[in-house]
Amino acid sequence: RLEVQNLNRAFDGQRVVADVSFGVPAGQVACLLGPSGCGKSTTLRMIAGVDMQDSGRIFVDGKLVCDTVFRLPPERRAIGLMFQDFALFPHLPVSENVAFGLKGGHAANRARVAELLDRVRMTSHIDSYPHELSGGEQQRVALARALAPRPRVLLMDEPFSGLDERLRDGIRDETLALLKEEGTAVLLVTHEPHEAMRMADQILLMRDGRIVQQGAPYNLYNAPADRQVAAFFSDIN
Ligand code: ATP
Ligand code: MG
Repeated sequence: RLEVQNLNRAFDGQRVVADVSFGVPAGQVACLLGPSGCGKSTTLRMIAGVDMQDSGRIFVDGKLVCDTVFRLPPERRAIGLMFQDFALFPHLPVSENVAFGLKGGHAANRARVAELLDRVRMTSHIDSYPHELSGGEQQRVALARALAPRPRVLLMDEPFSGLDERLRDGIRDETLALLKEEGTAVLLVTHEPHEAMRMADQILLMRDGRIVQQGAPYNLYNAPADRQVAAFFSDIN
């Protein structure tokens, strides 16, 4: 479970993340949804531990990972990352890419690597190098790599945006099924309402650094908090 309490972040006196609070239970997907520049990636970076909040607290499974005085380094937070440009390591085969976060590499973790590659239908590519794979295949390997160390929380920043539009819904559904099986708490950043409606248990709608509405997708769709929220969902059918 991920718990975020009253996160604030300013750059040059300009507040970019303002009093953001939410929780994501294990096995659920929360989508942080909002227009470009509203503070989504900044929020994710603070949770990942690659940026530091001005105030607020972050907990993973009830354990404090960061407040204004205490800060656990990123690699000790049990948090996995998957970003759009979080490319695979080009000099490593698929097997070692998936095993990258595991002690002892592929040799010491054959069962886990095999399980995940089977799950993302990439078993036959275990010895391939990233440049030999399509975009969708690379994305599936990246998902396997992110999940291999069994993170308690997985942060995904626009993970499907580099993919062909025609492939996206299929990959979204496959990704969601695997995330549910693994039982990870997922925070997925997107600016596409359709993606949030399709994948989220909970939508966190962000505007100008604040969460303006949060709830189940049908709640935001059927009972938008204001006209701007309504407008944001109006082009979904
Ligand atoms: P997008 O959908 O375009 O990725 P976003 O919601 O992820 O947008 P952020 O990257 O969180 O937006 O940026 C929020 C605001 O903070 C923007 O105005 C951005 O210019 C500003 N910002 C982000 N990082 C920094 C930084 N390191 N220094 C100064 N300003 C920053
Ligand atoms: Mg961003």
